[in-house]
Amino acid sequence: MSTFKIKDVLTRVYNSKRPAVADLELLLSMATAPETRILYAYADQVRKKFAGNGILLRGIVEFDNNCRNNCLYCGLNRKNKHIKRYRLTQSQVLDSVARMAAQGIKTVVLQSGEASDLDAEWLAKVIREIKQRYHLAVTLSVGEQDVRMYRLWRAAGADRYLLKIETTDREIYRSLHPDMDYDRRVNCQRNLKNLGYQVGSGIIVGLRGQTKHSIARDILFFKRHEFDMIGIGPFIPHHQTTLAKDNKGEALLTLNALALTRIVTRYSHLPATTALGSLEKDYRITGLQAGANVLMPNFTPQPYRRYYELYPGKRCVNEAVGACVPCLARLAAGIRRHLDYSYGHTLIKKIGEGKHG
Ligand code: SF4
Repeated sequence: MSTFKIKDVLTRVYNSKRPAVADLELLLSMATAPETRILYAYADQVRKKFAGNGILLRGIVEFDNNCRNNCLYCGLNRKNKHIKRYRLTQSQVLDSVARMAAQGIKTVVLQSGEASDLDAEWLAKVIREIKQRYHLAVTLSVGEQDVRMYRLWRAAGADRYLLKIETTDREIYRSLHPDMDYDRRVNCQRNLKNLGYQVGSGIIVGLRGQTKHSIARDILFFKRHEFDMIGIGPFIPHHQTTLAKDNKGEALLTLNALALTRIVTRYSHLPATTALGSLEKDYRITGLQAGANVLMPNFTPQPYRRYYELYPGKRCVNEAVGACVPCLARLAAGIRRHLDYSYGHTLIKKIGEGKHG
């Protein structure tokens, strides 16, 4: 496609309150180096204008890999009897948080599978301790839970919640999540917003049955719901799951989806996901040049980190706690950016301002 035509479509998508699915599909199909260069440069400009030049850090602690669900793509699904299950103690979690606070990080992401016996009071206590001792922003990523638990954790001081939709195509959603319900998930996101959480969503690119059309609709879903954070990563098949023999998601399509999400949502915080960095090369770097503004160093203590295996080949599983930050500083410097040690709260209330292109 000609440079002129690509720029024309990009400007139309950027300036539209409801971009056309066909335009998004067209841009998702960019495949040659000259085409993606234009797309990523445009997304990079939008990122710079609305999210700044810094790369925000969110330190992640994967505190429990037990899960009651059976997502067909995930190595933690309850039917996988080959992995070692673990649950960190409060002092193990707080020790990791102390280390990230000592390195100047201002956000902790407490992530787990959707454990059926998650102790809500225990987690509330952990949140309170983090707030009192270290004054960090707390993001939870512990799945679909009762609204009373969401309320309890919010009252304890939790600021944000990640609950990725994975795909907005109901048919694909149903086929990959045998025990789950799409509407229930969307309702959980609504409950979280109503409680005042900054809410994150996201998708996996390359799922069985997914098309560019459905990804285009995912991006419109992000725009409609004005999520504070959106994670987009490639599907990586796990050998102990039903989808073991499926093809990997393509880096190219994942990066195109990321760039378009930046252009369409403008203000959402977009991580260069660990999954994007776990393909044949570290595509997080390209992601940061195509709209992303967040990195998530792993602070899960050893020896547990390798057991949080959503997908195989996850990068940085052998590193010591705290080793990731200097590495990410080098990565940022390599693309003339810097790590941003601020809280990085939502930018979303500014939506609707500004023109570009
Ligand atoms: S994706 Fe999440 S909810 Fe699904 S099986 Fe894995 S850990 Fe559980």
